[in-house]
Amino acid sequence: MSATLKASLNGENKRTVVEIGHGMSIGGGSLLIIAGPCSVESEEQMELVGNALSGTGIGAIRGGVFKPRTSPYSFQGMGEEGLRIMSRLSQEHKMPVVTEVMSEKQADMAVHFADVLQIGSRNMQNFELLKHVGTLRKPVILKRGLCATLEELVLAAEYILAGGNENVILCERGIRSYDNATRNVLDLGGVVALRQMTHLPILVDPSHACGRSELIADLARAAVACGADGLMIECHPEPAKSVSDARQAISLQEMVDIVRSLEPIAHAVGREIRGPHMNLNLHAESEKGILHKEHMHAYDGLMSELSSLRNEIDAADVQIAELLEKRLKLVLQIGSLKQELKVPWRDIAREREVIEAVCSTCSDKRVSGKIRHIYERIIEASRQVQVENAMPSRVVA
Ligand code: PEP
Ligand code: MN
Repeated sequence: MSATLKASLNGENKRTVVEIGHGMSIGGGSLLIIAGPCSVESEEQMELVGNALSGTGIGAIRGGVFKPRTSPYSFQGMGEEGLRIMSRLSQEHKMPVVTEVMSEKQADMAVHFADVLQIGSRNMQNFELLKHVGTLRKPVILKRGLCATLEELVLAAEYILAGGNENVILCERGIRSYDNATRNVLDLGGVVALRQMTHLPILVDPSHACGRSELIADLARAAVACGADGLMIECHPEPAKSVSDARQAISLQEMVDIVRSLEPIAHAVGREIRGPHMNLNLHAESEKGILHKEHMHAYDGLMSELSSLRNEIDAADVQIAELLEKRLKLVLQIGSLKQELKVPWRDIAREREVIEAVCSTCSDKRVSGKIRHIYERIIEASRQVQVENAMPSRVVA
């Protein structure tokens, strides 16, 4: 492949950052996660998607309205009505939206509604479409063809760059092989190699790569670990009811869980997971030119600290839940003994003693009052479980 291509990685190893709107970008320090259903099916469906995904670290929402289906009799997508749904969703949640176009006409329509145009695998070498989106200024996700080599992918991207559109994002989505245990074969080696061939940002789509919902989380983590700049994952409010690609659809909760599980991996490779709501004000300031590069670095540092503190909180919560369960089980044992002994449920003096003992171990005045409050609730809950689980015939008054 010629080093003089616009897509080639130049000597300075400078990587391209593509801005996709609402303060989101791909190719820099933050990892872009795009999530949403294979197809837009209704306004209600997309509302559920938007509500569940916004504010979770997901950077953009996907949804196909022009669907490249193997059979002409399968659902072909909602078309323009679907575009309007996507556009409303974007405005409501202040998130960029991504949708696929298969023709120049569709691109001209979608350009008014979507933030990013996607060219799917089947159209990777639709050269007239590539030339056309090259004349637009919208960011384009170019998916690797079903059987395309990396060089063919980079040369397809070159068509868009040559037309003057520099906002090209490549996407590895699995290639055809002889083994049908997975829908395609996710070429992570290809992702690593691509990073040495081109400066363009690289997305990985584990959904179309493996075609099985249960494999997606692990592949997503592997993709981030090997240097992908972002992920595109299909999810659905009711995965089994998805009108297309149901077998690979994960639930919205699973999607959010994947994002959380990616945080330590993203940190390990020097990336931050950031959704639009987390930095909206900062980007607004930055657009006004108030914030400079150093401030953005400081911001990245603070975000990283925030996320590691959150990890510590999560670990502490697990311990708290385990200990609370242990405490309540002991309380139940005590309840049975009280019934045997025919002693009253409530021993106010003992309750005070417990609360005072706990509060006396807390040295930080800023939180000790709250701990007392929490402990009063724990004692109250303990009493309730004893009463709720008492043997009816043997309740002691
Ligand atoms: C899609 O993203 O919905 C899609 C059809 O993907 P691909 O072009 O990779 O098959
Ligand atoms: Mn799909």
